[in-house]
Amino acid sequence: MSSPHIVGSKDRPIREREPPPKDRRTAHKWLNDKAKEEYLGLEEKGYELYISKLAEEKIRNHASSTSSDRLEVMGLLLGNIFRCNGNEYALVRDVATTDLDSSSVRVRFSRDGMEKLFASLEDAGFNYLIVGWYHSHPGHRCFMSPTDVETQRGLFNKRFHSAVVIDPISKEIEAFYLDGSKVKSRPFAIYWDEFQNPYYGETVRRKRLAGDAQPIKANRR
Ligand SMILES: [Zn+2]
Repeated sequence: MSSPHIVGSKDRPIREREPPPKDRRTAHKWLNDKAKEEYLGLEEKGYELYISKLAEEKIRNHASSTSSDRLEVMGLLLGNIFRCNGNEYALVRDVATTDLDSSSVRVRFSRDGMEKLFASLEDAGFNYLIVGWYHSHPGHRCFMSPTDVETQRGLFNKRFHSAVVIDPISKEIEAFYLDGSKVKSRPFAIYWDEFQNPYYGETVRRKRLAGDAQPIKANRR
């Protein structure tokens, strides 16, 4: 098995690809009023970050799963970067996480968790980049703390890297990125693939992938 492609982007060209069209994207339901306004302002131009419903649900479920204990969670955003009309954007298809050391105000991957994380990355089954990370602020709202900024600077300092911060208690979410030394908010859209049902948040028909072992059910009596 080849090792997962997890860092950098220099060694592969950025492909041209149309971003998810308007009828397959929406604003996250936890955007605050200001973020919602920014989202609407970019509807024509498009976004620099698109998060799949699958990834979004995993992030929200992960954050909610420990919110009663007020524990932070974190994970990596897996996807790709593309270019369209000269604009680069990131598409987050999935997320990965592992065992965490966490409290209500900080979180990190546990030492033993790294091996598990790399195993799960190898299992992801598609060639992706790490396009950023997510973590939760249970009850603290969404912002980038000095530690968060340090993490961003050290590990996610490319323009396409995003930091998704989610507060499962206040029900808020916001994405950030580094623009030089400044931390900026990054409006983003939730998108779904054609085979997904946008209304119930469930995949109604799984896309058949090449190499998938599918049992063939003969309808015989
Ligand atoms: Zn934080």
